[in-house]
Amino acid sequence: MGKPTGFLEFTRENPKKIDPKIRVQGYNEFIQEMPETVLNNQAARCMDCGVPFCHSGCPLGNIIPEFNDAVYEKDYEEAYRILSSTNNFPEFTGRICPAPCEASCVLGINQAPVTIEEIEKNIIEIAFKKGYVVPHIPEHRTGKKIAVIGSGPAGLAAAAQLNSAGHLVTVFERDDEIGGLLRYGIPDFKLEKWVIQRRVDLMMQEGVIFKTNANVGVNVKTNQLVKDFDAVVLAGGSTIPRDIPIKGRELKGVHFAMEFLPQQNRRVAGKAAQEGKDLWATGQDVLVIGGGDTGADCVGTSHRHGAKSVTQIELLPKPPTDRTTSMPWPNWPMVLRTSSSHEEGGERSWSIQTKEFVGDSSGNLTGLKLVELEWEAGVDGKMPKFVEKAGSERIVPASLVLIAAGFLHPQQDGMLNDMGLDFDERGNVKANTTKYQTSNPKIFAAGDMRRGQSLVVWAISEGRECARSVDEYLMGISKLERKDNSLLNVEEMA
Ligand SMILES: Cc1cc2nc3c(=O)[nH]c(=O)nc-3n(C[C@H](O)[C@H](O)[C@H](O)COP(=O)(O)OP(=O)(O)OC[C@H]3O[C@@H](n4cnc5c(N)ncnc54)[C@H](O)[C@@H]3O)c2cc1C
Ligand code: SF4
Repeated sequence: MGKPTGFLEFTRENPKKIDPKIRVQGYNEFIQEMPETVLNNQAARCMDCGVPFCHSGCPLGNIIPEFNDAVYEKDYEEAYRILSSTNNFPEFTGRICPAPCEASCVLGINQAPVTIEEIEKNIIEIAFKKGYVVPHIPEHRTGKKIAVIGSGPAGLAAAAQLNSAGHLVTVFERDDEIGGLLRYGIPDFKLEKWVIQRRVDLMMQEGVIFKTNANVGVNVKTNQLVKDFDAVVLAGGSTIPRDIPIKGRELKGVHFAMEFLPQQNRRVAGKAAQEGKDLWATGQDVLVIGGGDTGADCVGTSHRHGAKSVTQIELLPKPPTDRTTSMPWPNWPMVLRTSSSHEEGGERSWSIQTKEFVGDSSGNLTGLKLVELEWEAGVDGKMPKFVEKAGSERIVPASLVLIAAGFLHPQQDGMLNDMGLDFDERGNVKANTTKYQTSNPKIFAAGDMRRGQSLVVWAISEGRECARSVDEYLMGISKLERKDNSLLNVEEMA
């Protein structure tokens, strides 16, 4: 432990953010750098617990107390060595992870947890600045060729690990840029895209081959690819959105969030929006349906477009602001989360059901018919039930509705059906978390394509674990690390 009295001397300090009124004028990240003294003091709050729950709360098994100690000692090279031994991309998780490690930090029992995520971001950014992050080109090549399909965090992590084991890895990506949802989906104000490119450039120097505009099952023949490579890793994400098939769904102005968000990523990158999808919230009454990360990103993007009004609605009741007895520490708390996009304005309503999209005679959306709900707690472990609140049905004005109701499963048509793979009961590619192997032994699956819609940290974790299984399949043994995810709460939050 760096400083035994650190947690008594210092309170939690979050990094400063640019004022919402100013930051909504652009698309840049707005979290400011932490002064070094603050960073060291925050690291000093770590108690180096005998049982560090933070470590098992992290899906990657990050060795948190050790890197906190190194940061307190200002030994950033050592901190980087520790962090990069379990996490290939701390520059992503340090910016956009919901930080399950912090939810299970022991300090969180009676005060604010250690600022683990911010410390992680600082370690990797300092490491880049000081030149500690250099390409590691494998000394020996195995002669085995591996195709990774999809370049999101799962595919990138699998590619990085397999390349480090000496295999020749080719990543196939159907978009025109590498990164998956990190690139097209997550707004630039949460993750600027040079951060992805910096990592991709490093991986290229390490020997990973990237092929963009390579849509397996469309312009890359699936069966030929399976024949040409010694093993295939599927990391294509969960891309089929959950629809709200109510009356008026066909009206002009009703869109999925993922029709809207990537267009702004494209514009920020200096590209035109995709044909027929040049969607803007400017001057519109925007209604976002769905309360998760994707919905919050629609809110933040709509503010930046200059929407007339922005309202986010959610079917479920408003969560409590603090832990309750049903979600004790160190479980992931289902409490009210206020994202940076919510700090910027707009309204949020809970316990709302959408009944009908309302339009004019030209087929344009003009409003949404909704009703308030009353929730009744589930008895004997049964699911809670809701009833419509009498007299609460009304039409609210809306000229743009963005559906952010989650994702069902990966696209099965095309590549997956060509491969003839088994799916699980939710429609994801069937593969267990011991081997990540599908019903075809040379094909493996990781990330959202296997586990369903989840988080960046889980995608990286699965990519790493899957890589080890592929290495074992090809070589008999593997020197790549394997993480044992032992704590229950981390599973629950995805
Ligand atoms: C709008 C939005 C915001 C989010 N915000 C956060 C957040 O703040 N924090 C967080 O932790 N998580 C967030 N998530 C979730 C997170 O982005 C995903 O869990 C994560 O990206 C999954 O990684 P993946 O590698 O499995 O798949 P993806 O990132 O989805 O990447 C899959 C890639 O595979 C490619 N692909 C698919 N099929 C083929 C094919 N046949 N041929 C070639 N390429 C193919 C796709 O084009 C895509 O690029 C967010 C999700 C969304 C939609
Ligand atoms: S649980 Fe919190 S205080 Fe304990 S070792 Fe982990 S970060 Fe430090």
